[in-house]
Amino acid sequence: MLRCTSGIGPAEHLGDMGIPVLQDTPVGENLQDHFGVFNNYLVPLHDSLLRVNRQPLYFIWEVLRYFLFGTGVLLAPVVQMAIFACTALLDKHGVPLEDKQPEINSVPDVEIMPLAYAQGLAQKDATRGGFSFLTVLLTPESKGSVRLRNIDPRAAPRIDFNYLSTLSDRMRMRHALRLVLRLARGLREQGYQLEPAEAPPLDAEVVGDDTLDRQITEQGCTTYHYTSTCALGSVVGNDLVVKGTRNLRVADASVFPEVPACHLQAPVVAVAEKCANMILSIH
Ligand SMILES: Cc1cc2nc3c(=O)[nH]c(=O)nc-3n(C[C@H](O)[C@H](O)[C@H](O)COP(=O)(O)OP(=O)(O)OC[C@H]3O[C@@H](n4cnc5c(N)ncnc54)[C@H](O)[C@@H]3O)c2cc1C
Repeated sequence: MLRCTSGIGPAEHLGDMGIPVLQDTPVGENLQDHFGVFNNYLVPLHDSLLRVNRQPLYFIWEVLRYFLFGTGVLLAPVVQMAIFACTALLDKHGVPLEDKQPEINSVPDVEIMPLAYAQGLAQKDATRGGFSFLTVLLTPESKGSVRLRNIDPRAAPRIDFNYLSTLSDRMRMRHALRLVLRLARGLREQGYQLEPAEAPPLDAEVVGDDTLDRQITEQGCTTYHYTSTCALGSVVGNDLVVKGTRNLRVADASVFPEVPACHLQAPVVAVAEKCANMILSIH
């Protein structure tokens, strides 16, 4: 947004704000993110990281384990595994299509993260713990924008994520949520004591689109993977210099032309190292 208040941005928007245009460029457009939806369940307390909050003696024991032996749940990351799937290979109930093979070079378009933790209602039941599946759309088509609220560079910008605004994005999220319902039901059928707290009923075959859409509205959230508002090609060139300027470079998540289908820290570090090498090679 500093770029926009300095006159580098979409001419029409800068004009609306009364900012003289130095460079007309689509800074702030093309915003992407990995949109996620939680399905929250109640599970036995001893299987959930919420136990650390609920049982002070258990917490003290885990602190001791951590300091004395370097082991225990305090070493457990909230995300311990992830499931990657291609929604094109699932039918409308989330069941893999047997006659369909993945195309060469096709990337998974959804990520499902089982978490030994849950927010919301699961935290209100003192006797049980929380567990959730976080379902994330990795290759969204939907695009939003970041705009100035006013000309004060310290003012919070106006952000429109425009999540799931294409039919394909919404349908892929529904397919993925049905796969999650099948996973949850599979756990229950194997005897695990899992009960929906803030999640649709476990029966993926009978859950309608409206139920899934309600889940998306009530439990949808960012996964903090904002990208693409200074995209390579449109705003910056291959040297990461903002087009129309001489020495102004951008080296962060905003230069990805579209959000990568992965977690972003490693790609951002790669961009930063590439940028540093390019600057060193010039000077
Ligand atoms: C809660 C959370 C969890 C995440 N977990 C993961 C994960 O597990 N794995 C993963 O791969 N990715 C994860 N990410 C995503 C990843 O951290 C980001 O995609 C990545 O850090 C983006 O890098 P960036 O350089 O674009 O922005 P940032 O890392 O946000 O860097 C921007 C920097 O600019 C500084 N800054 C801002 N304004 C100014 C100013 N006016 N003047 C000077 N400096 C300024 C900020 O202090 C900050 O240091 C997570 C993100 C969040 C928020």
